[in-house]
Amino acid sequence: GSTIGVLGGGQLGRMLALAGSAMGYRFIAMDPTPDAPAGQVAEQIVAGYGDAEAARQLARRSDVITYEFENVDADVAGMLTAESYVPQGSSLLYTTQHRLREKRAIEAAGVKVAPYAEIRSVDELHEAVAKFGTPCVLKTAMGGYDGKGQWVIRSTEEIAKAFETLSKAKTELVLEQFIDFTMELSVIASRSPRGEVKTFPPAENVHLDNILHLSIVPARVPADIAAKAEELAVRIASSMEAVGLLAVEMFLTRDGELYVNELAPRPHNSGHYTMEACTTSQFEQHVRAVCNLPLGSAELLTPVVMVNVLGEHVAPLLDYLAQNDTIDTEQVSAKIHLYGKAEAKEKRKMGHVNVLAKSTEDALHWIDQTNIWRA
Ligand code: ATP
Ligand code: MG
Ligand code: MG
Repeated sequence: GSTIGVLGGGQLGRMLALAGSAMGYRFIAMDPTPDAPAGQVAEQIVAGYGDAEAARQLARRSDVITYEFENVDADVAGMLTAESYVPQGSSLLYTTQHRLREKRAIEAAGVKVAPYAEIRSVDELHEAVAKFGTPCVLKTAMGGYDGKGQWVIRSTEEIAKAFETLSKAKTELVLEQFIDFTMELSVIASRSPRGEVKTFPPAENVHLDNILHLSIVPARVPADIAAKAEELAVRIASSMEAVGLLAVEMFLTRDGELYVNELAPRPHNSGHYTMEACTTSQFEQHVRAVCNLPLGSAELLTPVVMVNVLGEHVAPLLDYLAQNDTIDTEQVSAKIHLYGKAEAKEKRKMGHVNVLAKSTEDALHWIDQTNIWRA
């Protein structure tokens, strides 16, 4: 069989390797942390992402190269596209690793983003805050995740401090108008080099402290909103000629408008529900796309709620498993996924549970009654 090289060896790489191994592929993950989550289920080259020599070695040993995070060094990505087969190309990565480029690409696809401004100085920030009003959100253009690298500006007094703090990241800054959303949704699209596009059903996402907590599917929105969300994702993936997965995060407002927040050109936490709830998982779909196979059906087989297991949830989860003879009820089947990370640090993503149920309400009730996720 063929070998798939993966830049990054975190949980996304691990689940990709698990899905792809079942399809007969071999995996080599490149990651600086010894015994990384993906390295436990595949081969691993222990090296930093900017290590050109290690990347060249990965390229030599792989038939196809993909990545599981978007902050791949641009020079390394360029070298890999020149020296090996990277079906996703480097321009998708280049666009999505920078918020300004990403927003322009979304707008070019005819899709709305929150009003934004590029910020190069404190004066420009003052001007833009005056224009958008408070609250508004200042973000670093590159490198942010889980709400790191952003500042919600609630009054003009915070401007200097916000600018000073985020400027330390040494990347451009973007100010966004605050969208008073009623719900956050995401749609994961997949596109193959043949141009075939499929979307998974929209997930309704609930964040706690800027970290994804729940993905509820089907999202509790009218059918026309769900269809519109999928359609936006198709439009963006097609317009960008994306290959592989493209996760599209969006805000839904009271008047039924959808604004795209950000993109991720890889498997996404809000797509973990697909592992048991869809005919094809996001990971299998990504493997199919980068290997130029026909895409699989993205059909939802059952209502589901995905709940993340952070460091602080591991002990209560293990206690719950030890104390209960079954975690399934007549209404619910709970599927547990852990990523093999040694240290259960607070807020660290350690795993997730896909709660399959007759209704999302039953799944949410199960999550509540376990007391694992009680603050
Ligand atoms: P991720 O872990 O999803 O990559 P991130 O650090 O890249 O997170 P964003 O997704 O841009 O950050 O923002 C994190 C969260 O902050 C959003 O999911 C949303 O809840 C809130 N948020 C961000 N931008 C805005 C906005 N313009 N208006 C309202 N809320 C926002
Ligand atoms: Mg992000
Ligand atoms: Mg986000």
